[in-house]
Amino acid sequence: ATELQRPETTRTITVSNQKGGVGKTTTTVNLAAALADQGFQVLVIDIDPQGNASTALGVPHSADTDSIYDVLIDDLSLADVVADCPDLDRLQVVPATIHLAGAEIELVSLVAREQRLQRALDQYHRYREEQGLERLDYVFIDCPPSLGLLTVNAFVAAREVLIPIQCEYYALEGLSQLLNNIQMIQKHLNPPLTVSTIVLTMYDGRTRLASQVAEEVREHFPEAVLDTLIPRNVRISEAPSYQQSVISYDPSSTGALAYLEAAAEIVTRGAASQR
Ligand code: ADP
Ligand code: MG
Repeated sequence: ATELQRPETTRTITVSNQKGGVGKTTTTVNLAAALADQGFQVLVIDIDPQGNASTALGVPHSADTDSIYDVLIDDLSLADVVADCPDLDRLQVVPATIHLAGAEIELVSLVAREQRLQRALDQYHRYREEQGLERLDYVFIDCPPSLGLLTVNAFVAAREVLIPIQCEYYALEGLSQLLNNIQMIQKHLNPPLTVSTIVLTMYDGRTRLASQVAEEVREHFPEAVLDTLIPRNVRISEAPSYQQSVISYDPSSTGALAYLEAAAEIVTRGAASQR
């Protein structure tokens, strides 16, 4: 295998789409696992109260677990709540618990309510350096299906947005709202934020519709859409019930191979844009 280059600085990527069920969590978990598998240091931050990314990566997230909620609301540090993914070296997870459902409202009255995740992350990078831990190469933030303060925190903490799009009829509907929100964040809170990556998910090559939608999305976003398509694959949907990424669960499945390929593409595109 060809060596993939480490990024010059940590790449922080928010995975967002206000639609539910488009593959945000699946894409976060499996790209993160693919990158860790390829030797990168990776952190996943789960900021969806559902905690699906925490489940899928096999880290505890029952109500009494210290989690991202305590970081955002009670100023715990990320170092206090981060957990190792049991299946993969180099992959760590900040879990989300059900308490996070209340955070959207609790955040409203806090100071620096939009910057809390960014501050925690900055502090965590310094902590790792002080502790002599390796620098993180990739941070993925798995967003809830809404554009509230949790998602705003994710947009402010990141440099890149990754949008998963499901290749179905209403794929582009609602996307302009997401893009408007990102523009607002760029304007007021985080100028460098860019939609660097669009991943077409649950692609069913047998249907004409899927290929039409894929084509349409590529026309709208010629730069951002990855060449790699993520196919609809039963191994991908089975893996979370074994608390594993598809990379650990069935590394030779078409789903695992697709996410490995997508991850490699993200690495090489990033390297090109850094030049
Ligand atoms: P979101 O986080 O956007 O709500 P999920 O990642 O949870 O979406 O995906 C929604 C559902 O679709 C889940 O049950 C997941 O297992 C399934 N799924 C996602 N991607 C695929 C895929 N490529 N093949 C088969 N099932 C998938
Ligand atoms: Mg999700």
